[in-house]
Amino acid sequence: MMNSNNSKQIVLTGDRPTGHLHLGHYVGSLKNRVELQEEYPCLIMIADTQALSDHFDNPRKITDSIGEVCRDYLAVGIDPSKSTVFIQSMIPELFELTSYYMNLISVARLERNPTVKTELQQKSFADAITAGFLCYPVSQAADITAFKASLVPVGEDQLPLIEISNEIVRRFNRVYNTEVLVESKAILSGKCNRLVGIDGKAKACKSLGNAIFLSDSSEVIKQKINDMYTDPTHLKVSDPGNVEGNVVFAYLDAFFEDKDELEKLKTRYKKGGLGDSVVKSLLNDTLQALLTPIREKREAVTKEEVGDMLSDGCKKAGGIAKQTLIEVRDSIGLRYN
Ligand code: ATP
Ligand code: MG
Repeated sequence: MMNSNNSKQIVLTGDRPTGHLHLGHYVGSLKNRVELQEEYPCLIMIADTQALSDHFDNPRKITDSIGEVCRDYLAVGIDPSKSTVFIQSMIPELFELTSYYMNLISVARLERNPTVKTELQQKSFADAITAGFLCYPVSQAADITAFKASLVPVGEDQLPLIEISNEIVRRFNRVYNTEVLVESKAILSGKCNRLVGIDGKAKACKSLGNAIFLSDSSEVIKQKINDMYTDPTHLKVSDPGNVEGNVVFAYLDAFFEDKDELEKLKTRYKKGGLGDSVVKSLLNDTLQALLTPIREKREAVTKEEVGDMLSDGCKKAGGIAKQTLIEVRDSIGLRYN
């Protein structure tokens, strides 16, 4: 799958510290990162400034979530000796880059961005979208390019943002006649690029709270599975049931390893004769087996581990961004000393 000449490729990903991480992150991005860190230099950004763009009036939620996200990282196997984990607002170079990039993209282009359009429907801006929120894709371009990242593991919802970043890169290099900035490529997990919400909504997401979190207790997981939407026309065990649009099967598709067995179950369910409680119980066993060790590891993470990971990471990331900014300023011609 990967380019054989990977020694120079850098991976950047990140999450908004707006709450705990969930199974959508795990299957859409985290699992991939744990594999990628064995092969590539990986940077993982905790996007606090981006999160402020729609939580500016509730900064405590963001700052309180940073430690939780770090614990989630360590619990799933992000290794600070291989991955550089840092906080966006600790790298001021990112905001200077954002300023230069703002000139290279039109407001109309930002308004056409499907990710922002969908997110706006979920948020409470009504018709008063802030400049900060509209422009967060520009700051995301700064995040990617500051580290010259060419590989960006993300969920499907992020693809239009990578496109915007690449447009800015091409424009910058053309306008300033340089090759300083590097285009990037999204890496989709291949397994499940968009995990549906436990409520059947198109995407499990922190803001909607419609997710199974990595930190959920075993009882909460069981309860959430019990409450999952299946097929409303599947009233009796003997009734034929729908697999399409059935949340329990969507989760089995993402997490149940034995695909042959799953196909057999689907056939039985569609024919009639397989009850929701049986499939729910299979999903419960599957998710408990996946999440129990993660939760136990999470509980063992210490404050010191989190503190060390972040202070080392911020230092390292800051050094790289500083170097890129020197090259960017030089390309524009901002040379005053
Ligand atoms: P928020 O509600 O604050 O936007 P979120 O749940 O959408 O939170 P993000 O921090 O925005 O999570 O996303 C971090 C990464 O996880 C992104 O790469 C995103 O594509 C991926 N991701 C988030 N939710 C899912 C999901 N349900 N399925 C697959 N990938 C996901
Ligand atoms: Mg999101």
